[in-house]
Amino acid sequence: AKGEKRGTCRSFESGFDVAAQEKIKLIFDLREAIQHNRLKVHYQPFVDLESGEVVGYEALARWRHDVRGEVSPDVFIPLAEEVGLIETVGKFVLETACREAMHWPTHIRLAVNVSPLQFRNGNILATVINVLSATGLAAERLELEITEAVLMEKGPRTSAIIRNMRSFGIGISLDDFGTGYSSLSYLLNYPFTKIKIDKSFILNLEHEMNSREVIRAVISLGRSLGLTVTAEGIEREGVCEYLRGEGCAQGQGYLFGKAEPADKLSFAAKRDAA
Ligand code: C2E
Ligand code: CA
Ligand code: CA
Ligand code: CA
Repeated sequence: AKGEKRGTCRSFESGFDVAAQEKIKLIFDLREAIQHNRLKVHYQPFVDLESGEVVGYEALARWRHDVRGEVSPDVFIPLAEEVGLIETVGKFVLETACREAMHWPTHIRLAVNVSPLQFRNGNILATVINVLSATGLAAERLELEITEAVLMEKGPRTSAIIRNMRSFGIGISLDDFGTGYSSLSYLLNYPFTKIKIDKSFILNLEHEMNSREVIRAVISLGRSLGLTVTAEGIEREGVCEYLRGEGCAQGQGYLFGKAEPADKLSFAAKRDAA
């Protein structure tokens, strides 16, 4: 085909080999990046839609590869899950974020993503409690974001762990809401404190009537269950206005800010000056 490089493999098999080799290389590099402390944590604000004030930051893992540049967490997190590195990565993000959040004003909350596999393998509850006591962060300032995949893990264990976390005062958010399977029964059976409406609905809001209906339904459902409803992926003022009008409590998205390193957050300068 036109534009094809010389020596490019054309057959299905060899094409697969190239992809597999690339993946093995990426896994090798990820392992090395972890060992040499090259993963970073950036923070994206979420705001109270009524007041416009920043109420917290979500910790998001970042990996800048020497050659490839920024590798998306949508690529390296699933990879870490696949090869057994997610507990290390997850603990690193949690520890780093709790330590850095100790320098923030105390009314600012911290949200950290937790992979379903961290629930399956490790002692996630002990890890979280240890990190909180080691860093000194108040449990009430921490929100753990989990997806429905966590809840698909069968048995009472997951629900017991989540209940335990809640009893320490840790908030539990149901992330990517609307993209999974049977969200409704989960919402009723687990003690969530927040739902995050997936950004795919918010990004479609202006063009798709269906998204708008889903959003309205989720906001009213969340409110009637006493949960904080957050919308992610807010990029435009009009979308923000609409969500506020519908009674959505919090929002997150490029309109308010992208994820940035801790030393770039708005209050970082004030802290240094103090
Ligand atoms: P997520 O938890 O749903 O995080 C939100 C993603 O949406 C982030 O992408 C964020 O940068 C992006 N985003 C925020 N606002 C907007 C917006 O206005 N428009 C658009 N188009 N996108 C927006 P990011 O940082 O690339 O992370 C992707 C996913 O990787 C996260 O989705 C999360 O599932 C996973 N991830 C990131 N860090 C961690 C981590 O430390 N642990 C685990 N388990 N997963 C992580
Ligand atoms: Ca999240
Ligand atoms: Ca999300
Ligand atoms: Ca996501």
